[in-house]
Amino acid sequence: MTTIKMAVIPGDGIGKEVMQEALKVVKCVQERDSSLQITTMVFPWSSDYYLAHGRMMPEDALETLQKYDAILFGAIGDARVPDDVTVWELIMPIRKNFQQYVNFRPIKSLPGISSPLAGGNDIDFVIFRENAEGEYSDSGGRLYQQQPQEMTIQNTIMTRIGIEKIVRAACEYAQQHGKTKLTSATKSNAIIHSMKFWDEHTRKTVTQIAPELQLEAIYIDALVAYFVERPQEFEVVVASNLFGDILSDLGSAIVGGLGLSPSANLNPEKTFPSMFEPVHGSAPDIAGKGIANPIAQIWSLALLLGHQGRKDLEHLIVQAISKVLEEGVVKTADIGGQATTAQMGDAICQEIIHMTLTAGGV
Ligand code: NAD
Ligand code: MN
Repeated sequence: MTTIKMAVIPGDGIGKEVMQEALKVVKCVQERDSSLQITTMVFPWSSDYYLAHGRMMPEDALETLQKYDAILFGAIGDARVPDDVTVWELIMPIRKNFQQYVNFRPIKSLPGISSPLAGGNDIDFVIFRENAEGEYSDSGGRLYQQQPQEMTIQNTIMTRIGIEKIVRAACEYAQQHGKTKLTSATKSNAIIHSMKFWDEHTRKTVTQIAPELQLEAIYIDALVAYFVERPQEFEVVVASNLFGDILSDLGSAIVGGLGLSPSANLNPEKTFPSMFEPVHGSAPDIAGKGIANPIAQIWSLALLLGHQGRKDLEHLIVQAISKVLEEGVVKTADIGGQATTAQMGDAICQEIIHMTLTAGGV
């Protein structure tokens, strides 16, 4: 018997729409597997909550969340609230306080989905984005306001331990999955303090724990070009917070778009709950229309179950997604069809209930 206590934060915009489909999947996975008991608690923390209460989540929100095994998150962002408020009052406190220093983002070609790149099939790599420090810091400020010399300082914070931890996680993943190469995103030719430090401790960590891995450090500007020109060559990519964020949206785009890309904010030590969310945001341009693709959210749920020790269920859900895409009958607008969010969720549930599991898969 597996029991999982799951905190659910749908958030704003399409976050709420795609979360409904993930909750459907929770139900039908339990229908198929009676050894699984998932209890869910939905928290309405969002921009609406902010407009009503003056804060994105209650003061004791982190204490509340800590009682759960894992968090399934939708997306936030609403034109009525500044984006830095939604991000810094909700997502960042969870990531930073729960030491979710690994942001894991798989980039993989899917059946029935064509890449916008010519010959862009057979892409299969993962991004390990540092998720707790780096460029996403609130250190800095403004000086000389309203004067000609008005200026701002935005500090990047990188710690030796922080770099070691993300690189170690990437190396361990590479070792466990038979990978041979680790690509590190850098810019140490221009950003000489933080990025040289990143390079130095990345190299030391790899030498210490995975000397058999081939380590390549590539400047970020060249790396984005290589993602487009020869994405098949990557296996495991490790990057700082900002570089990893940009690389993963690009990674999504080359395998079919943001509607398909899941992510996991992991606290590998399991001292705190980890959080699972799509790479995409609240998509205000399509919110309320019922046409968002729920696959990224459902796949994020699959990663959650895998992290909680049920790799079999992760595999089951991902295989169901693959099957629906391969059949190509139910497709949302972002991948060239006309199905609604709910129809896509239903199709995946039908597969989960009826599918015979095969080895391999996505
Ligand atoms: P976005 O990811 O919301 O949307 C980018 C584009 O991708 C849009 O055209 C959108 O329609 C499309 N798209 C995204 N998800 C889709 C899905 N599931 N199905 C179909 N199409 C999809 O990024 P944005 O437009 O830069 O940001 C919108 C808001 O989301 C902002 O307020 C931003 O701060 C916020 N945001 C939040 C998160 C998060 O919650 N972690 C992440 C990124 C952006
Ligand atoms: Mn992003």
